Amino acid sequence: MTGPTITGTTTLLGIIGYPVEHSLSPPMQNAAIAHLGLNYVFLPFPVAPDRLADALRGFEAFGVRGFNATIPHKQAIIPLLQSVSDTARAIGAVNTIYRTDTGWCGTNTDIIGFLSPLKRQMGWTNGATVVLGNGGAARAVVAGCAQMECTQVQVVGRNPEKLQAFLASWEHSPLKANLTVHTWDELPTLLPQAKLVVNTTPVGMYPNVATSPLTLEQWAMTPMDCIAYDLIYTPSPTLFLQQAQARGAIAIDGQEMLVQQGAAALELWIDAPAPTDIMGQALRQALEQRLV
Ligand code: NAP
Repeated sequence: MTGPTITGTTTLLGIIGYPVEHSLSPPMQNAAIAHLGLNYVFLPFPVAPDRLADALRGFEAFGVRGFNATIPHKQAIIPLLQSVSDTARAIGAVNTIYRTDTGWCGTNTDIIGFLSPLKRQMGWTNGATVVLGNGGAARAVVAGCAQMECTQVQVVGRNPEKLQAFLASWEHSPLKANLTVHTWDELPTLLPQAKLVVNTTPVGMYPNVATSPLTLEQWAMTPMDCIAYDLIYTPSPTLFLQQAQARGAIAIDGQEMLVQQGAAALELWIDAPAPTDIMGQALRQALEQRLV
C-alpha cells in the first residue's frame, strides 16, 4: 500500500471518535486526496470523551483544516463549536467540522448522503416513508425527508417512551416533516401505503446477516413499486434488501450514503468536487479486507 506524500506543508484532516479504529473514513478520504494530488492527510484520532475540548484546542493550534466526529462526540461537540448549521441543529448531531475565520463550524452531511441515491428515484416524496428505528441515523432520515417536503414520515420503534421523546424533539425544528411515530405492531396499517421503507436499525448488519427487521409476509403488504433502503453498508445486500428485491422492490444499500456524506465533508474542507467513484472503490476494498 502506498501512503500519502507528507511534506512540511501537509495539512491535517481527520476523524475523532472513541473508539475510532474501525472507521472507514481514513481509507476513503485518503484515496480521494491521493487521486486529487492534494497535500492533505486524513488521520484517525482516538479522543476520550473527557479530552474533547483539549483535542479541539490542539487541532486549532496545529492548523487542522477540518475533521469528522463520530460516536461518542456527535452531540457533545456542539457546545464547543463557534457555529452550528441549521441541519446539524435539526438532527441534533454534528458529523463534520471545518475552520472558518470565526472559529469551528459544525454541520451534518448525513442528510446529503441519505438523499443522494434517492435523487435517482421518482415520486417517492408523494407517499409515505416508513422509517424503522428511532436512533441517531433515523434523525438524519427524518430531516432529509423534511427537506424533500415528503408527504408523510412514519417512524417505527419498539420503545413508546423513546418514540414520544423522538417526536417531541422535532417540535420546534425547521426540519420537522409530517412526522408520526408508531410501534412495530402498527406495521400492517403502515406498509400498504409505503412508497419508501428505510431500515435505520442495526438488524441484519454483519455478522448477524441472517436477520431482517421485516418478514417476507410484511414485505408482501407493501405496494409493488415500493423502494427499500437499508442504511447498513455491510453486508450488501442485507437480507432486508434481498427480501425486498424478491418482492420486486427497488433496493438501495448504505454504501452510497456513507460515500456521499464523506464526499460532502471533503468538499467543505478542500472547496473542490470530491471523486466519489474513487471513494466508493476505496470503501468497498476496505470492507472486503475487513471480512478476510
Ligand atoms: P442507534 O442510534 O443505536 O439507533 C438504532 C435504532 O435501532 C434504535 O432506535 C434502536 O431501538 C433500534 N434497534 C436496535 N436493535 C433493534 C432490534 N433488534 N429491533 C428493533 N429495533 C432495534 O444507531 P444509529 O447510529 O442510528 O445506526 C443505526 C444503523 O444505521 C447502523 O446499522 C449503522 O451502521 C447505520 N448507519 C449507516 C450510515 C451510512 O452512512 N450508511 C450512517 C449512520 C448509520 P431502541 O432505541 O429501542 O434501542
